[in-house]
Amino acid sequence: MILMNDFKAEPPELREAMQGAVRRVLESGWYVLGNEVAAFEKQWASACGVAHAVGVGNGMDAIEIALRALDIGSGDEVITTPMTAFATVLAIIRAGATPVLADIDPQTALLSVESAERCITPRTRAVVLVHLYGQVRNMDAWTAWCGKRGITLVEDCAQAHLATWHGKVAGSFGAAGAYSFYPTKNLGAPGDAGMLVSDAGALAQRAGRLRNYGQSVRYQHPELGMNSRLDEIQAAMLSERLKWLPEFTKRRREIADAYHARIKNPLVRQLAPPEQPSAHVYHLYVIACEQRDQLQAHLQQHQVQSLIHYPVPIHKQEPCSDIARDPHGLSNSERHAAICLSLPCHPQMSDNDIALVIAAVNSFQGD
Ligand SMILES: *Cc1c(COP(=O)(O)O)cnc(C)c1O
Repeated sequence: MILMNDFKAEPPELREAMQGAVRRVLESGWYVLGNEVAAFEKQWASACGVAHAVGVGNGMDAIEIALRALDIGSGDEVITTPMTAFATVLAIIRAGATPVLADIDPQTALLSVESAERCITPRTRAVVLVHLYGQVRNMDAWTAWCGKRGITLVEDCAQAHLATWHGKVAGSFGAAGAYSFYPTKNLGAPGDAGMLVSDAGALAQRAGRLRNYGQSVRYQHPELGMNSRLDEIQAAMLSERLKWLPEFTKRRREIADAYHARIKNPLVRQLAPPEQPSAHVYHLYVIACEQRDQLQAHLQQHQVQSLIHYPVPIHKQEPCSDIARDPHGLSNSERHAAICLSLPCHPQMSDNDIALVIAAVNSFQGD
C-alpha cells in the first residue's frame, strides 16, 4: 500500500540523529523551556526571515496566542475560511473572538478576497489566512487589502513550512504567523509542537508570557495566560529534522510536478499550479473529481491510500452551524468538500510509487 505518510521509511541517519537529540536532553537534566527550545526558536525565526519565534505546545495554540497577544478577543470578528482544519476556527473561538467565514476560490481552495470583503463589519479586526495545502498565493492583494481596511493579518502556516512567495517566507507577511509541527506536517515532531513567528518584539514577548501562565518573571503574573510550552525533547528532535526539510520539500515538489504533468484523466481536475515553484510546499497534493468516492475506492483497490481535506466544511460542523458567513453563502467550499481528494505526496515515496499512483488515477473510468 502506498501510504499518505510513512515515517518508518525515513532515512536511518535521521532516526539516529533524533535518538541522539533525545539522549542529549535526557543527559542535560533540563526538560522544559531550556537551551534546546531557545536554539530551535532561533533556527526557525531565521529560516522564516523574522526576528522572533516563540515555541508553543501546538499549532492551534500558536493561533490563539497570536490573537491574544494582538489583543483580539471578545467583541472582535476574525474572518477565515471554512475549508481548513477545525483547529483554525477553534483557536479563534478559544481566543474569545467571533469567527466569520468567507468562501474560497474554487481553483485553489484558498480564501477569496472578494468574499472576505463581503464579510467585513465595523467589528472586523483580523483575518486568519490559511496557506492551505502548502500554497502561499496572492499576498500582494492580501497585504494591500488588510492595510487599506486596517485589518490585522495573521497567517495559519500549519501546512506551509517555508513556502516562499517573491522571496518572503510564510509567516512573515502578517503581524504573526502560526506554525504546527504535528507529526504529519512537512516539518513534524514525533508528538505535538508549534511555533509563533513575528517581527514584532513586543508581540513575541507577550506571546512568551502567554504560553507560560502569563508569567513575566518567576511568580509574577501580570495577565492570565495558558500552559502551552514547547518541550526540550521535541525541540531537540525538530532541530535535527529541520536539517532535512529542504531535501524533503524538494522531493514533495518533484512528486507534485510528476502528478501535474502525467495525471491525465478527463474525470479529474487539477488545482491551479503555484504562481512560482517556491510558493507551494505540497503538504498535500489535492485533485478534484465529481465521482470522488468512487475514485477513492478505485485507488484503494490499486493499493493507493488517499484522504479528504476536508470532507466537512467548518459551518457544517455541529457546534459551528450558526457561525456568521458571507451573505452570498459558502457554496464553493461546500462543492470543494464534495469533490476534493488528497493523493500520497511524502518525501519517502520512490519513483515507482509515483508511477503507480499516476497509473491508478489515470485508469479510473467512473460509472
Ligand atoms: C494542523 C493544522 C492546525 C493545527 O495544528 P495542531 O498542531 O494540530 O494544533 C491548524 N491549522 C491548519 C491549517 C492545520 O493543518
